[in-house]
Amino acid sequence: MPEANIIDGRAVARQVRAEVRAAVDALTANGQRPPSLAVVLVGDNPASLSYVRGKVRASEEAGIKGATLRFGADIAEDALLAVIDRLNADPSVDGILIQLPLPAHINAGRILARLSPDKDVDGLHVTNAGRLAAGQVGFVPCTPAGIVELLRRTGIPTSGRRAVVVGRSNLVGKPLALLLMSKGTDATVTICHSRTRDLPCISRRADILVAAIGRPNLVTSDMIRPGAAVIDVGINRVADPSRKRGYRLTGDVDFGAARQVAGWVTPVPGGVGPMTIAMLLKNTLRAARMRAELGARSGR
Ligand code: NAD
Repeated sequence: MPEANIIDGRAVARQVRAEVRAAVDALTANGQRPPSLAVVLVGDNPASLSYVRGKVRASEEAGIKGATLRFGADIAEDALLAVIDRLNADPSVDGILIQLPLPAHINAGRILARLSPDKDVDGLHVTNAGRLAAGQVGFVPCTPAGIVELLRRTGIPTSGRRAVVVGRSNLVGKPLALLLMSKGTDATVTICHSRTRDLPCISRRADILVAAIGRPNLVTSDMIRPGAAVIDVGINRVADPSRKRGYRLTGDVDFGAARQVAGWVTPVPGGVGPMTIAMLLKNTLRAARMRAELGARSGR
């Protein structure tokens, strides 16, 4: 059997980002201000710092004004809520992103619930989660949205296909399952999780297998149906003394083994990750357009 095609998430993300850039240029040529994104970062978790830097850099390359608001890990929950209130009320801010995880003394659910759903470009507010579940228009979390975009732009058919999503988090697994089964995408979806019995038996039936688990190499070749599309969401740090940083990034899928069986597979890094950022830019552009339309309608 030939080796699987590698899905180049970086290349697809570049396309999406160029489209966002062109749309932003059209907005500003029309006399509108550029879209703006405020990223709230609490503490100094190195992975979060690196994600935030990547998001702000990508925003700026797309013509979006990105600002990072940094706070110490000891910020009180009420103080953080006050920051969100201020950003919600600020007409020059289109999108707000709270970088997770937050320190343990802060209730992340309470913070996310305080966001204005119309500025929630990460799609994590319960209103947006509800809109997705109800099939209504809203902001969809960036990683699941990016996965569906990646499938679509790679030409991987979803309609009527069996999709198995491993992982049921609010950030990835659950919204992805909803998106895959939504009208227009039309997959038949099974969700698996840590209590699922005989995972290989279920995953082997998948035309599209998504691993969003957070366990290096959990998905092995015997779990993959020949010819399937395998989407690896996992980002795991594995100790590697030969690297300058002392670790390397790996996904949830045994990539080398998967390549021998699958039809398509995403690498880590360079698969789903870049799409997550591209969809954040797309959501921010949408938030800016929505605000501009609202402003025009209310005569502001
Ligand atoms: P999470 O810890 O919230 O959820 C993990 C899920 O995996 C849970 O639903 C759990 O039931 C399931 N699970 C755990 N062990 C399992 C097992 N042995 N068999 C089957 N299911 C099992 O994590 P998350 O936030 O959904 O993230 C998952 C992974 O994706 C992490 O590695 C994270 O770093 C990565 N991630 C990547 C991106 C990206 O942009 N590429 C974005 C978000 C998350």
